[in-house]
Amino acid sequence: MKGRIKRVNGSLVVAEGLPAVKIGDVVHVGELRLIGEVVRITGRDIAIQCYEDTSGLRPGEPVASTGLPLVAELGPGLIGTIFDGLEFSETALWELTGPFMGRGVRIPPLDRKRRWHFTPRVGKGDKVAEGDVLGVVPETPAVEHRILTPIGLRGTVSEIREGDYTVEDIVAEVRTPEGEEKPVTLMQRWPVRVPRPYKARLPSVEPLITGQRVIDSFFPVAKGGTAAIPGGFGTGKTVTLHQLAKWSDADIIIYVGCGERGNEMADVITHFPSLEDPRTGKTLIERSLFIANVSNLPVSAREASIYMGITIAEYYRDQGYDVAVMADSTSRWAEALRDISGRLEEIPAEGGYPAYLAERIAEFYERSGRVVTLGSGQRIGSVTIMGAVSPPGGDFSEPVTSITLRFVGTLWALDTELAFRRHFPAINWLMSFSRYTDLLSEYWSKYDPEWSYFRERALSLLEEASKIEETARIVGEKALPDEQRLVLLFSEIVREGFLVQHAYHEVDTFCEPEKQAAMLRFMVEFYDMVEPLIRGRVPADKIREMPSLVEVMRLKERRGVEWVNKVREMVEGDVRRLAEQYGLAF
Ligand code: ADP
Repeated sequence: MKGRIKRVNGSLVVAEGLPAVKIGDVVHVGELRLIGEVVRITGRDIAIQCYEDTSGLRPGEPVASTGLPLVAELGPGLIGTIFDGLEFSETALWELTGPFMGRGVRIPPLDRKRRWHFTPRVGKGDKVAEGDVLGVVPETPAVEHRILTPIGLRGTVSEIREGDYTVEDIVAEVRTPEGEEKPVTLMQRWPVRVPRPYKARLPSVEPLITGQRVIDSFFPVAKGGTAAIPGGFGTGKTVTLHQLAKWSDADIIIYVGCGERGNEMADVITHFPSLEDPRTGKTLIERSLFIANVSNLPVSAREASIYMGITIAEYYRDQGYDVAVMADSTSRWAEALRDISGRLEEIPAEGGYPAYLAERIAEFYERSGRVVTLGSGQRIGSVTIMGAVSPPGGDFSEPVTSITLRFVGTLWALDTELAFRRHFPAINWLMSFSRYTDLLSEYWSKYDPEWSYFRERALSLLEEASKIEETARIVGEKALPDEQRLVLLFSEIVREGFLVQHAYHEVDTFCEPEKQAAMLRFMVEFYDMVEPLIRGRVPADKIREMPSLVEVMRLKERRGVEWVNKVREMVEGDVRRLAEQYGLAF
C-alpha cells in the first residue's frame, strides 16, 4: 500500500493514503525511501517522524509502510561496530563513502557475508524454550555470543548444525508443540521500544567498579542501577564517561553518543578502538560497541539511538552479561523529543518540552536492572545505565536534569567551579548522592568491615569543612580555632589526596577497590590520630608541617595497597615526635 506526502515540516512529514498503518510503524518516505516512524494518526493524516534529512522532499512523493515497528537486528557482529541511531553500520558506511554519507545509502547492521563458527549447546531431540542457549559463537576474543532460543519459541530441536554460518543461515530448527518447524538463524530482531522480557528482577547488590574513587567509594552505582552525570560545558562529562567506559568492570560497554556532532564523536571512534582493555589485555573495542550519529542524520534520529542502544544492551544481558550503557547526552535526546513535539503542535510543558518527557525519561531508566534471564540455568545479567545530562548554563533546575534526578539511583553532580579549579573529576561531594550504599556495604565489607562507617565519617567531615570554609572566607583561616583548622586540613587531604583523580596519570587513572577502602579508612584514622594532639594544644600549623603529609597526598600515585601501611607508619612516627615534643602521651 502506497500513500503520498501531503506536507513536509522539517523532520515531520504528513502523509495520507495509508489506511492500515499503526503508530510506531516504520515507513519509507519519498523517492529516496528515507526512514521514518509513524508518531500520530489523525483521521486520514499520518504524521511521520523522519529519521533522515528531509530537505528536497516534496508533496506528492510516495510513502510506503513496512507494517513493522523500528527493530534492532541482534546477532554476532554487533561488538566492535559503530552504528548510527538506526543501527546502520557507520564503520561499513565510512569505508564505503567516507564521513559524509549520502542519504538513502543502506547497509544492513549485521554483515550478511561474514561467517561465524557456531557450536551447538543442545542436541537433536532436546526440549528448548525461549531464552535457552542453542549454541555459541566466538564473537570477539573477549565475548562469547550466546545464541538464544527466540522469545516466543518453544519446542523440540529437530535440527542443529555445527559449522561456519552467516547470520542469515539456518543453524537450527525447532518443532513447536503445534507441529510447526521453526528455523532459527544467528540473527534475531526486536522492536526497540519494547523492553525485552526476563524471568525476575533481582536486587542490585554488587557495585559497578569503575576504579574512580569519588564514584566507587562515595557515590557508587550498582550493577543494574542507574546514574546521571549532569554538568555544564567543560566540566568533564565526556572524560568521565570515557573513564567509565574504559575501566568499568562490565562485560559489555555500549556507548551511545546521541547528537554529538562530528569531530567529538569521531574522536571517540578513532581513539577507542586502539585503547587497551585493562581487564583483558586486548583492545577495548572487543567488548564495546558505539551508537553515534556521525552521519548527517537529523536531530530526530537521536531519539531512536537511545532505544537502539538499550535494546542491544538487553540482548547481551539476556545472554548473561553485565552490560553498561553510557548515553552522552540525554539532553540532546530530550531536545529531539521537543523538536518533534513542537512540529506536532502539541501543548508544550516546562521549557518547551512535551508533557510526556518525564514518562519517557522514566521508561528509559527503567530498562536498567539486574535480572534472572529467560531460559534454563539461572543466568543472571544486568544493564546499568549512565546518562550524561547537559543543562544549559549548568543550571540543574532545568526540566531534563530535574526530571532525571527523580528516576536515577546515583547522581554525580559536576561542578563548574571545581572544574575551573581543575579539581577533576569535578563531582561535587555535597550535591551528589547514591541510593545504593546500603545494598553495597556487604560487597565493600570484604575489603573493610567498617566501610560504611568510614564513608559516613569522611562525608560528614567534608560537610563540616564546607561550613567552616564559609566562615574562613570572612575571618581568614588563621583566625579559626585549631579544631576547625584540623577539619579543613582533613578536607584538603581527602580532596587532593582522594577525590582528585587524574585520568591521564599512569597509576592514578584506576584505583582498585581494595586500595580505595584502605585509603579512605586511613584518612579518617589520620584525623582521629592527630585530633588528640590538637586537644593537647599542639598548634595546627605543626600538624600541617608534618613531613609525612606529602606522602599522604601522594598515596594515590603509588602502586599497590601496601603503601597505605607504609605511609601510616610515617604518620605515626611524626605524631609520636610531636606528642613527645609537647609532653603528651601517645
Ligand atoms: P564536557 O564533556 O563536560 O564538556 P570534557 O569531558 O570534555 O567536558 O572535559 C573538559 C576538560 O577537562 C578535558 O579536556 C580535560 O582536560 C579535563 N578533565 C576532565 N576530567 C578530567 C580528569 N578526570 N582528569 C584530568 N583531566 C580531566
